[in-house]
Amino acid sequence: MDLNNLKPDPIVVVGGGFGGLATVQALLAKSDGTSVILLDEGNRFLFKPLLYELLSGELQLWEVAPQYSDLASELGFIFLQECVVEIDEIEQKLITSSEMEINYSQLVISTGVTKDYSFLDTFQDYACGFSNLNDFRIIKKLITKINNSSEYINPIVIAGAGPTGVELACKISDLIKDRVEIYLVDKGDKILPNCKSFNREKAIDAIHKRNIRVYLNYYIKSVDKTFLQLSITNNETDNFIKIDYSNLLWTAGLKPSKSKFVNHFLNENQKVKVNEFMQMDEYQNIFFVGDITFYENAPFPSSAQVAMQQGSLVAQNIISLRKGNELKPFKFEDLGEMLSLGIGNASITGYGITLAGSLAFEIRRIAYLIRMPGLLLSLKSSGSWLFSKKIINRFFSQSS
Ligand SMILES: Cc1cc2nc3c(=O)[nH]c(=O)nc-3n(C[C@H](O)[C@H](O)[C@H](O)COP(=O)(O)OP(=O)(O)OC[C@H]3O[C@@H](n4cnc5c(N)ncnc54)[C@H](O)[C@@H]3O)c2cc1C
Repeated sequence: MDLNNLKPDPIVVVGGGFGGLATVQALLAKSDGTSVILLDEGNRFLFKPLLYELLSGELQLWEVAPQYSDLASELGFIFLQECVVEIDEIEQKLITSSEMEINYSQLVISTGVTKDYSFLDTFQDYACGFSNLNDFRIIKKLITKINNSSEYINPIVIAGAGPTGVELACKISDLIKDRVEIYLVDKGDKILPNCKSFNREKAIDAIHKRNIRVYLNYYIKSVDKTFLQLSITNNETDNFIKIDYSNLLWTAGLKPSKSKFVNHFLNENQKVKVNEFMQMDEYQNIFFVGDITFYENAPFPSSAQVAMQQGSLVAQNIISLRKGNELKPFKFEDLGEMLSLGIGNASITGYGITLAGSLAFEIRRIAYLIRMPGLLLSLKSSGSWLFSKKIINRFFSQSS
């Protein structure tokens, strides 16, 4: 692509996750033909809340992870598969790992977070996360191996009883059908501490039903190739539980993506402190969106919902900035929460409903797929099963 043919004053977005793509979509809907360039180091957008359904085969790769090149031609933006390594705020340009230089007029950074193994050096060697397609492939292979084995396999340990840990534990349990025990470990005193109470109750039921063993108030003190030690949180005694394990899945801590170029923007909590307009005070033409951000006056959760709402607001603010209009502050509107709880099962609080079970699973799937960036792609992916299963009819007949 010849970047010299761009319209003047391009808007550049780094990171094509929920925050970045929502920004791009809103910019294209609102702006007057300005060039919008999206850079991502990968070639596919990943709809992370549906990674569990990809693992179980309930959804396919093309439904959960469309290619950026397809989205770009459908929506009308410029996509460059590049990893950004440096930002020159004075010259207003980005530098990528292939030494490409890209000038921007306004810049949006939404590079997300990744697993944080800094608690223990050996996590790097023995743990696997669950946040990208690479992790997905490793866990998929593990499930196949377990299902094809007739030998005893030591338990799988999942660290972190937040949404990812709980949802992953339920889905893996259903996929391996009691062949291997699953242990869920968390240093806190309850699972899903920040979730809605209805969803937490349904998750506890789902965990008990599957015989997943839960260790609350424990943290992983050490890990070796074949065993790990659990110690009691906030307790100085030498008491610990030794577990011979087969696989350690880490969902317990996150840090900014391997984006060294944002290091100098990070605060002591490894987040970028933004003002109410999602800018940095120092550089008013640089906006930040998504999991990487921290707003001191009203901290918001790290979620796809927040990232998408921020992306939409930032697009509006960039257009206002270009026209010399006033910017608007970010206000999070909580639309509710949905949990995947095993094959064909989910729990929903919000969106006007409180519901659990198979119907909740189907509504969750529709609700997410229609949010997939690129209307045509989302219709293609949701359409096939939406119509064949007559979900809408079923929903109305059950709720009446
Ligand atoms: C398994 C799982 C399930 C989840 N379920 C839910 C859910 O049900 N509901 C919910 O609200 N949230 C959920 N989340 C959280 C949600 O996915 C995140 O909050 C959301 O993705 C944050 O969006 P983001 O734009 O900040 O980052 P991301 O979506 O992570 O996107 C970051 C992008 O930046 C790119 N990038 C990083 N560094 C560079 C670089 N240097 N150069 C170029 N590109 C770069 C990456 O390749 C990536 O595409 C889930 C997360 C996971 C892992």
